[in-house]
Amino acid sequence: MNSFLKQLPQLAKDKHNENRKYFKKLKSKPPKNLDYVMQQLHDEEFSRTDCLQCANCCKTTGPLFTNADIERISKHLKLKPQQFIEQYLRIDEDNDYVLQNVPCPFLGHDHYCLIYEVRPKACREYPHTDRKKFHQITNLTLKNTSICPAAYNIVEEMKKRIPK
Ligand code: SF4
Ligand code: SF4
Repeated sequence: MNSFLKQLPQLAKDKHNENRKYFKKLKSKPPKNLDYVMQQLHDEEFSRTDCLQCANCCKTTGPLFTNADIERISKHLKLKPQQFIEQYLRIDEDNDYVLQNVPCPFLGHDHYCLIYEVRPKACREYPHTDRKKFHQITNLTLKNTSICPAAYNIVEEMKKRIPK
């Protein structure tokens, strides 16, 4: 996993134009069974990929935090929401709450999430490759192929299963 993670930014860069063109075609005419195929690709990939061997998303990007996330996590940590915000979060250029620093302060040394049961929705859903109407998040997915080895593999497999 480590050597793949090291190569990933360059691999994703090499595929960027090809993937961008592919997604453009996909968006113009998404297949009717897209959700079904994406769920299959996602499940197949995550039956092979162990996130505990990776944690690259937690190390390099971190999620955005919704108000519901902030309420839930601060309650779990026995902090007031405002205290939690001041201690861990900042507002980014899109006006979203994000982590002040990465790696995420809730990432344990063994790659376990210290707040797993109450983690942000964005963490639960990352890398969003089983999301309904996947063709609507192709820009985000392009970005994620340089961060998440599973997202990279899923897009590579997707081009074979749904040729354009
Ligand atoms: S909250 Fe947990 S799952 Fe989310 S980025 Fe931090 S360590 Fe990873
Ligand atoms: S979701 Fe992707 S980047 Fe995050 S730990 Fe799993 S394989 Fe790694």
